[in-house]
Amino acid sequence: MYDPKSLKAEEFIDNEEILETLAYAEKNKDNAELIDEILEKAEKRKGLSHRDAAVLLDCTLEDRNQRIYELAKQIKKDFYGNRIVMFAPLYLSNYCINSCVYCPYHRQNQHIPRKKLTQEEIKAEVIALQDMGHKRLALETGEDPVNNPIEYVLESIKTIYGIKHKNGAIRRVNVNIAATTVENYRKLKEAGIGTYILFQETYHKESYEKLHPAGPKHNYAYHTEAMDRAMEGGIDDVGLGVLFGLELYRYEFAGLLMHAEHLEAVHGVGPHTISVPRVKKADDIDPTAFDNGISDEIFAKLIACIRIAVPYTGMIISTRESEAVRARALSLGISQISGGSRTSVGGYAGYTPDERPHDTEQFDVSDQRSLDEVVNWLMKLGYIPSFCTACYREGRTGDRFMSLCKNGQIQNCCHPNALMTLKEYLMDYASADTAAVGNKLIESEIPNVPNEKTRGILIDNLNKIEQGSGRDFRF
Ligand code: SF4
Ligand code: SF4
Repeated sequence: MYDPKSLKAEEFIDNEEILETLAYAEKNKDNAELIDEILEKAEKRKGLSHRDAAVLLDCTLEDRNQRIYELAKQIKKDFYGNRIVMFAPLYLSNYCINSCVYCPYHRQNQHIPRKKLTQEEIKAEVIALQDMGHKRLALETGEDPVNNPIEYVLESIKTIYGIKHKNGAIRRVNVNIAATTVENYRKLKEAGIGTYILFQETYHKESYEKLHPAGPKHNYAYHTEAMDRAMEGGIDDVGLGVLFGLELYRYEFAGLLMHAEHLEAVHGVGPHTISVPRVKKADDIDPTAFDNGISDEIFAKLIACIRIAVPYTGMIISTRESEAVRARALSLGISQISGGSRTSVGGYAGYTPDERPHDTEQFDVSDQRSLDEVVNWLMKLGYIPSFCTACYREGRTGDRFMSLCKNGQIQNCCHPNALMTLKEYLMDYASADTAAVGNKLIESEIPNVPNEKTRGILIDNLNKIEQGSGRDFRF
C-alpha cells in the first residue's frame, strides 16, 4: 500500500509504514552497529530515509547521541553557515469556520473578538513592520470563504508589496492559509508569493479527524494532499510542519519525513522549509490538555534529526519558544526565526515595543523581545541576522534553488547577501548598540567570503549602503 509516488494521502503517508518504521526504530534503538552505519550515511550529507532517521531519533546510546548532535551542528554550519534569516508573521483575520481544538480561533469560541484587517489597516501594520526592519512576512488567516476569500488574500498581498515607506519594503510574502484548490494556488503564485506554508498539525489520520471535528479542515486527505495541488498550481516552494504535542512525536517525525520524500518523488523537489511549532497556551487553550507534549530535550533531538535527514530544507522556529530554547535550536539546525512577533490581528501598528495586545492572540508568545533585541542577541551569539530575499527575487525557487543548494553554490550568495542586508538594517533601524555590534561583525565576516571578486563587490556595495548611494544589492 505504501507508495511515496502516489497522490493519495493514505498511500504516501501510509499508517502501516509508519507503524513498521516505529517498531524498527524501537528494535534498533541500541543497535550500535546499525546506528554507526546510519551515521556514516548521514555524514555524506545527502539526507536519510525516514526509517534510518527514526532509528537515530530513538537511539538510546549516549555516545551516539552526542555524535548525532555534533553532526547536526556540522551540517547546519556547512549548509547555512552562521546566517539566520529573519521574518515576522502578519495576521490578517481570525475569522474561521474550522474547529481545531488546539487553536483559539476555532469557530465555537464565542468570546474571542473577531477581526479582519481592512487594506488601510494592513498598510498601517506593514509600515510598522517595515519600521522595525522586516523584509519578509508570513501571512496568516483563518479559513472563512465569506470573510477571508482568496480575493481578500490576493488584494492584501498586492497592498503589502506596494508599500514603500522610507527605505522599507517587504520583499517576500510567504502565505499560510488553509488548503485550497489548484486554481487558487495558481492565483497565489501569480500574486508573487514566496513559500506556501501549511502545517499538517498531525499525520495520524484518526487523531487528525478528532482534533478537527468540523469544518473543511476535517478532511484529512484534502489537507494532506494540499502541497501537491500547490505544486500543480505552480508554487514550488512549500513549507511543511506539524504541531508537536498533538500526537506521538515519533509518529509525526516519520510522517513529516515521508511527506518530504513524497514531494521529492513526485515533484522532484522536497519542502523548502520545515517548521517545528509546539502546542502553546492561548485564549481558551490549555496545552496540558494534550497528553503528547514533548520536553525541551526531545524537542532538541527532533530538530537535530530533521537537520540530518533533510539537510537542504530550511528550518523555522517561532516566538512560541523561549530565548533559551531558541538558542539551542539555532545551533542544531534552525535557519530562520521570527523576531518582534505579534500573533494577534492588528498587533503591530499603534503599539510601542513593550505594549502587546492580547485580545486576538493565536498563542502566547514566549520570546517577547523586540526585533532589535533579537538581532543584537543573535550577533552576540556569533550569528549573522539576514534579511536576504535574493533567491526569490532572482527566480531561484523550487528545483532551481535546490540544485544550486545541492551544488554548494548557494553559499557564495548567502553570506555576502546576509552582510549587505544586515548593513541596510543597521543603517536604517538599529539602536546605537546594535549598530556598533553589527558593524564590527560585518568587518570580521568580510574575509569569510571566499571568492575574491565577490568580496571586492561586497566591500564596494557595503560602502555604497553606508554612504547612501545605493542599496538593495544581491548576488
Ligand atoms: S488552526 Fe487555522 S483553521 Fe484551525 S481554527 Fe485556527 S485559524 Fe482556523
Ligand atoms: S541567497 Fe537565497 S538561500 Fe541564501 S539567504 Fe538569500 S534567499 Fe536565502
